[in-house]
Amino acid sequence: MNSQLEAFIRAMPKVELHVHLEGSIRPETLLVLAQRNQVTLPSDTVEGLRRWYTFKDFPHFVEIYVAISKCLRTPDDIEWIAREFLVGQAAQNIKHSEVTYTPYTIYNHCGIEFADQMAAIHRARVWAQRELGVDMTLTLDIAREVTPEIGMVTAEWAVSAFGNGVSAFGLGGYEIGHPPEKFARAFQHAVGAGMPSAPHAGETDGPKSIWGALRELNAARIGHGVRCLEDPILVAYLRARQIPLEVCPTSNVCLDIAPSIARHPIQKMLNAGLYVTLNSDDPPMFNTTLTDEYLKCADAFDWSAAVCEKLSLNALRASFLPAPRKAAMEQEFRAEFARLASQWSV
Ligand SMILES: [Zn+2]
Repeated sequence: MNSQLEAFIRAMPKVELHVHLEGSIRPETLLVLAQRNQVTLPSDTVEGLRRWYTFKDFPHFVEIYVAISKCLRTPDDIEWIAREFLVGQAAQNIKHSEVTYTPYTIYNHCGIEFADQMAAIHRARVWAQRELGVDMTLTLDIAREVTPEIGMVTAEWAVSAFGNGVSAFGLGGYEIGHPPEKFARAFQHAVGAGMPSAPHAGETDGPKSIWGALRELNAARIGHGVRCLEDPILVAYLRARQIPLEVCPTSNVCLDIAPSIARHPIQKMLNAGLYVTLNSDDPPMFNTTLTDEYLKCADAFDWSAAVCEKLSLNALRASFLPAPRKAAMEQEFRAEFARLASQWSV
């Protein structure tokens, strides 16, 4: 890739719609938390933890997630990881992030009350708005492995915090054996209260999971959705309604959903006229960042600066920000893109 385009991508304003707070903890941070809270991890060095983080398979991924959750003992720990996350987003010029967070897992493993979790994240958010000029809202999600009753608890929590730093309701985890239908009631409750629905679907499972997310969970956005290409009727449906898909290429390669970035379906999805956004999912676990996702895809698919700009604006427009805020940000983004394009001659 030419160095001008690389500089353009690094500097350009971005929005991220699919990134997990708990999956964004760097090994360095996890080590400090583990020592502070006397939790034993598989390694007590940053290098060892980095190796342990390296993705092996889905059960290993879940094991890491649970171990991370156990290292969070106090609201201050949560505030700290949220601040660190936002510092990382600001360094990439990500102006707004919609961050997936699984409150029941933290409640269950750490015993931190939901209200205390939200207050801690809110403190980090206010700090980042003031100090870094970046914002975030939360997509509170259900981990699919839990019972529908626990899903309902999460829905009630989400509704109670909706509008107060919480912008959407989600569903994550391993799809196989846990179809969207399992949580139809929880989503009815959240969507009925006006919350946008943004479940993961079409990642480890195929088109039927996406259909379920659309029909049973009223999905306004789909996390991943890359396997929609297996069903032409579904592709036509998603294209006609321009339902945004939160595509995470490196995550898909690590989880064996795609063989490589070069053979990732994102280009086919764009060619098919689907509404694509680019995201990092669990950046340190997949050894990536949102900026890296842009760099890798631009390199693999020969994307121009205009394609990168289009994807960034796609994410902004598909965010759940209020319409006037989105319109104001789009003006700012367009001005910054124009300035960067002339600065770097791209
Ligand atoms: Zn995800």
